[in-house]
Amino acid sequence: MHDATRVIHAGIPGARQGEPFRPGPTFASAFHAAGDPAGAEFTYGRFDNPTWRGFEQAIAELEGGTALVFASGMAAVAAVMGSVLRPGDAVVLPSDSYYTTRLLAEEYFAAMGVRIRTAPTRGGEQAGLLEGARLLWLESPSNPGLEVCDIASLCAEARRAGALIAVDNTTPTPLGQRPLALGADFSVASDAKALTGHSDLMLGHVACADPEWADRLRTWRTRMGSIAGPMEVWLAHRSLATLDVRLERMCANALAIADLLSSRPEVRSVRYPGLPDDPSHEVAARQMARFGHVLSFELADRGAAERFLAASELIVEATSFGGVHTSAERRARWGGDAVPEGFIRLSAGLEHRDDLLADTAHALQASHP
Ligand SMILES: *Cc1c(COP(=O)(O)O)cnc(C)c1O
Repeated sequence: MHDATRVIHAGIPGARQGEPFRPGPTFASAFHAAGDPAGAEFTYGRFDNPTWRGFEQAIAELEGGTALVFASGMAAVAAVMGSVLRPGDAVVLPSDSYYTTRLLAEEYFAAMGVRIRTAPTRGGEQAGLLEGARLLWLESPSNPGLEVCDIASLCAEARRAGALIAVDNTTPTPLGQRPLALGADFSVASDAKALTGHSDLMLGHVACADPEWADRLRTWRTRMGSIAGPMEVWLAHRSLATLDVRLERMCANALAIADLLSSRPEVRSVRYPGLPDDPSHEVAARQMARFGHVLSFELADRGAAERFLAASELIVEATSFGGVHTSAERRARWGGDAVPEGFIRLSAGLEHRDDLLADTAHALQASHP
């Protein structure tokens, strides 16, 4: 079955006379549960919720593993690190990963005796640090640099070294890349981005190849209380039905914008795995079903980037990505990432391509002093 069809039916119960296509959200802290609680499917809202189950079933179908929903992407990242890493263990992180993932490891796990090793995503350099490691953490394409690594080959090397593998799959979503099929143990994501796509909720998930690990992560979630609200989960499941059509338009728009940027003298460099001459293209073409909706480019300096963002009428200046609105930001304004002052990360939305191209060309013109 094709992705476009699967997302429509994923996690939806079969037809029952007089019932809605998909049940509404279940708002409950306590459920009726008299006597032996083993007989009650649901007892307390921190343990489980019927709305989570529908969404988790959908994500499980798309990722090809047992899925758990969390309060945010970082709650999902913390669940994997917290369940896997013990004092004395080593974790191999990408030096160019999502900044907060590195902060979490360096500020909390390192302080509890976990050894942190880092190497760039590009060229699969993390492979050189696997000896004796407990966990290999990958992020491909990386945010915000859009570097790509060969996930299947790194998974094979990590397995030989006895390490578990987690892939942060936020940028591609399971319709763009399936880490578990490439050999990973965990596919981790922020669902505040393209998976839900409307910039209106916070959510995350982990899909596990091994149901036993899923049980451990579920226990972590119950103990930590890093649970999602039923309304968010219900909205996320609703948004999933349009994931394929959204991504189709977003990826086509991203390629068109990347092409335009590549042809312009104001632009120093463009990164988009879908550009045939991009350093990531060959590996991305092999392991990704689509090249994604995020691209990055560099203008001369901070002033040029600020003028570009101010002059654009359609590109919303905001952090985050993956929404229906095209958005962009000058990444260096946050600090933390090793990016030039004129570096912009752009997330293509669902607007008409011609409007976006005209707006981008106009903003580039205005980026001159
Ligand atoms: C946004 C993001 C996260 C963190 O997710 P939150 O939902 O913001 O907690 C993790 N990894 C990547 C690649 C992200 O883009």
